[in-house]
Amino acid sequence: MDLCRLTLVEAKRLVDKKEVSIEELFEAFLNRIEKVDPLINSYITVCDKPVFKAGEGGRLLGLPIAIKDNICTSGIRTTCASRILENFVPPYDATVVKRLKEEGAVVIGKTNMDEFAMGSSTENSAFFKTKNPWDLERVPGGSSGGSAASVSADLCLAALGSDTGGSIRQPAGFCGVVGLKPTYGRVSRFGLVAFASSLDQIGPITKNVEDCAYLFSIISFFDPLDSTSHKLEEEDFTRYIGMDVKGLKVGIPKEYFELGVDREVKEAVLDAIKRLSGEGVEVVEVSLPHTEYAIATYYVIASSEASSNLSRYDGVKYGYRAIDYRDLEDMYVKTRTIGFGLEVKRRILMGTFSLASGYYDAYFLRASKVRALIKKDFDDVFSKVDVLITPTSPTTAFKFGERMDDPLTMYMSDVLTVPVSLAGIPAINIPCALDSKGLPIGLQIIAPGFREDLLFRVGYVLERIVPFERKEVPVGV
Ligand code: GLN
Repeated sequence: MDLCRLTLVEAKRLVDKKEVSIEELFEAFLNRIEKVDPLINSYITVCDKPVFKAGEGGRLLGLPIAIKDNICTSGIRTTCASRILENFVPPYDATVVKRLKEEGAVVIGKTNMDEFAMGSSTENSAFFKTKNPWDLERVPGGSSGGSAASVSADLCLAALGSDTGGSIRQPAGFCGVVGLKPTYGRVSRFGLVAFASSLDQIGPITKNVEDCAYLFSIISFFDPLDSTSHKLEEEDFTRYIGMDVKGLKVGIPKEYFELGVDREVKEAVLDAIKRLSGEGVEVVEVSLPHTEYAIATYYVIASSEASSNLSRYDGVKYGYRAIDYRDLEDMYVKTRTIGFGLEVKRRILMGTFSLASGYYDAYFLRASKVRALIKKDFDDVFSKVDVLITPTSPTTAFKFGERMDDPLTMYMSDVLTVPVSLAGIPAINIPCALDSKGLPIGLQIIAPGFREDLLFRVGYVLERIVPFERKEVPVGV
């Protein structure tokens, strides 16, 4: 039996029954990482011994889980794939990491990403590029590209990513795995290095929907250390796995099939919807009229928040500090010039500009108003339907370098994921087919706020009826 190919829930059962030991499982993953990760480059740091000595019990006892490198891990380097944090070792765990450890999980490593989670291809990492396990000449998506690639290539049982405008869903789509962006406020952001605080959410990236529900049940709870955390009861979301979908209303937002969506992607998603109607759902076309403004709105808001959040990297308190400088100001300038990469600088410049006095009303304030309209579009359709189904991205995985010289085309990769982020509602990526190049196509299910249950219910049924097999990932050694 190849232990690395197990799903999280399968591995949990075997460990519980003592058919597989924790040590055996850990060794199997370390060996596979040693053999396969040099091809993929999904990890920035591999933890070569379990950082936590598993106690008795725990819902994740002995299960190796990968963590995106913008989520703080006590005693383990947390770089955000940036030079400025290259040697930063946090003195504390993020709330989600603390919970994983309490449940006995093993942090197997920290995954590569776009610097400070800014990007859609993981090419903005200051360290190296992560490859898509389905085609090594293509990007894994981003910014959680390392997490998605490691799950897809069986280099961990599951991973955590973060999503600000699509960074869990889009790489999950490109790598043929499941990725959930929870409702804003569902999962604690304490210890997640801030990019755009009104949008950032941590979520699971897994091999299938059941694993996703399982891991989500563990990481979603009220945290007094995060002021935007919601007071909700903890819940076991695996109870929605296997529940039928008869009578549910599924909305198809017409704008999401226009915005530069590839023909093959569109056909695969429509085919999945057709299969779903065979399961007794009612399909209706709906409209989200402000969708076309989402990208502009997102890039003003996210960059503004980033410019403020990233002002803390000044070479004084922690992180990189330039070596030769004349005075304090020169130290700031040199530290930030050397420490930040191009895309991060672009965001800081854009954000500072849109917040500047004289421009604030025209940009940040205007964007905040459009954000309210986008949110209202969703409120309106959710009075008529239970969930929405759309493609996750307009295309499948693209080649390295293809969009690096053209930031606008790169930003357009997010056109189908950012509206959900602006509205603060949950959405999940489900692999639904392969395109003619053999690359995974992902579909996105969107639900009203705090209705992740619907995503698991519909996602699990879809997973069973679409023409996609996880075992087809070709990197097998
Ligand atoms: N690609 C988007 C951006 O570059 C989204 C990133 C994210 O969700 N972290 O901002």
